[in-house]
Amino acid sequence: MAREIITLACTECGRRNYTTKKDRKKTTGRLERSKYCPFDRKHTLHRETRS
Ligand SMILES: [Zn+2]
Repeated sequence: MAREIITLACTECGRRNYTTKKDRKKTTGRLERSKYCPFDRKHTLHRETRS
């Protein structure tokens, strides 16, 4: 049960655009990924959020 599905939200518009899996044993703290946001129409930083 170490791996769980998390939601990534755009830090600019706040929309939840992506889901990914996270290994709790390897990753500590909040996950951050640069992803394309279709609403901002550019790559923005997406941060882990509680679903
Ligand atoms: Zn956005």
